[in-house]
Amino acid sequence: MAYDDQNIFAKILRGEIPCDMVYENEHALAFNDINPGRPVHVLVIPKGAYVDMNDFSVEASAAEMVDLMKAIGEVAKICGVDQSGFRLMSNTGADGHQEVMHLHFHIFGGAPSGPMIKRIEKL
Ligand code: 5GP
Repeated sequence: MAYDDQNIFAKILRGEIPCDMVYENEHALAFNDINPGRPVHVLVIPKGAYVDMNDFSVEASAAEMVDLMKAIGEVAKICGVDQSGFRLMSNTGADGHQEVMHLHFHIFGGAPSGPMIKRIEKL
């Protein structure tokens, strides 16, 4: 899928839409989700134009990959969930129920996450 630079996270990265920033480094930005599903719900995104993990895993530089992973660890510490634990999630494509077509990781914390996902026979 081609990257659409009108997606909401691209607008946040360009400063056209505000965000509640939690952390940034050279290649990654983290901000609070506008509709939090947990007491802690932060989105971590690469600053580069990547649709999803398919795209990022092939096209991103090593420095971009490192910064994205480092950002996740830093955000967990900043938000105080590194010891209590958190759920890291990245929805990809239709079956993954991805709504914003710019790669992002959700960090959910501050309350128990519950079982991982519904098993397929319960869907
Ligand atoms: P997805 O379903 O693509 O994995 O997650 C998209 C996430 O982006 C949702 O949790 C949604 O609440 C969040 N979101 C959508 N629009 C905005 C926005 O304008 N600002 C922020 N901070 N989060 C947004």
